[in-house]
Amino acid sequence: MPEQQVSLVNLSRRLLRQISQDGPISVAHYMTLCLLDPRHGYYPTRDPIGAGADFITAPEISQIFGELVGIWLANCWQAMANPKTTQLVELGPGKGTMMSDILRTARSVPEFSKSIQVHLLEASAALVAVQAKTLGSFAQTINWTDDLNDTGSGPLLLVANEYLDCLPVRQFVRKNDFWFERLIGLSETNELQFTLSPTPLAQTEMKLIPPNLLQASDNTLVEIRSGLSGFFDPLAERAKTDPVIALFIDYGPASSQAGDSFQAVSKHQKVDPLKRAGEVDLTAQVDFTELKRMAEQAGLLTSNIVTQGSWLQQMGLLERAAALSSGKLGARAKIARQVHRLSDDNEMGELFKVMAVYSKGISMPVGFDV
Ligand code: SAH
Repeated sequence: MPEQQVSLVNLSRRLLRQISQDGPISVAHYMTLCLLDPRHGYYPTRDPIGAGADFITAPEISQIFGELVGIWLANCWQAMANPKTTQLVELGPGKGTMMSDILRTARSVPEFSKSIQVHLLEASAALVAVQAKTLGSFAQTINWTDDLNDTGSGPLLLVANEYLDCLPVRQFVRKNDFWFERLIGLSETNELQFTLSPTPLAQTEMKLIPPNLLQASDNTLVEIRSGLSGFFDPLAERAKTDPVIALFIDYGPASSQAGDSFQAVSKHQKVDPLKRAGEVDLTAQVDFTELKRMAEQAGLLTSNIVTQGSWLQQMGLLERAAALSSGKLGARAKIARQVHRLSDDNEMGELFKVMAVYSKGISMPVGFDV
């Protein structure tokens, strides 16, 4: 049996044993274990990104995506008064493709390019190896860290594409005027199944439920991204001494909505999130209103929330596509398909949202006109 299959069996077995001994676990606990367990978790044991793998992301669709992020960052660098040193952080850099497109684009602003020190936050050893290869030929030093506090001193730029959607969520369900946590327990046939906490949420935890949904109708389900708790603290701390500008791109609604968005994907198809633990990608939609509120509560400023389609167009998507197509026979149709995929309302353009978070004293970065 291939080694990977042996380890997958182990994660399922471990989960079954743990739940039968200690009782049901939260969706957040399940996500963390399945995605990040160092021995058997989804990310630490593979590179899941690409046409032949489990899912594809915007930087992998077209180089234009990372190039426009690069132009945006050069703009932010100017807004921070052209610092001599810029700490450039990426959360969950995947194959390193977006960073590579950013660094190549940055060369057109040599002082910006020279100022950059790169810091990558990556949970997957397999992907660290891919990133090292992708980024090995750039002049900038590339550092890997697992701590946002450990990213050098001075002005900080941060980017995160499809990172927040893998942070753990907790789910709560309203029943008979009470809120219960949705947990993962065992069926009579010893398979994982969803269940509710035996007792309602304690009064101290009721503050987790968004106030506008507190009185929602029976069976309403809400998701709270527990993985975001404290997330903005290091950025807010940094913003006390240095300018900070961060860009978040992810899939999810602009305003908080009730409903279950917890999903699993394998080989580009949605699959059962409770089957093949550690072998499939688990995500939940990012609630950008929740993200905005958390950043503001930490004392940071936020931009408007815009769709990916709108942001890319404001950053010059069509102009860059035209420039790339010109003179390359046969490239035009391919580039047009990529542009469509990234920006059309029926593809990624509407579902994906973009928001910037920045320190006081900086004006709203470009790309966020509504
Ligand atoms: N940004 C990339 C990859 C998105 S997939 C792209 O757009 O192609 C999610 C990425 O986040 C992967 O690199 C994954 O290994 C990483 N990741 C997921 N959870 C993480 C965590 N808790 N800490 C650090 N990296 C994490």
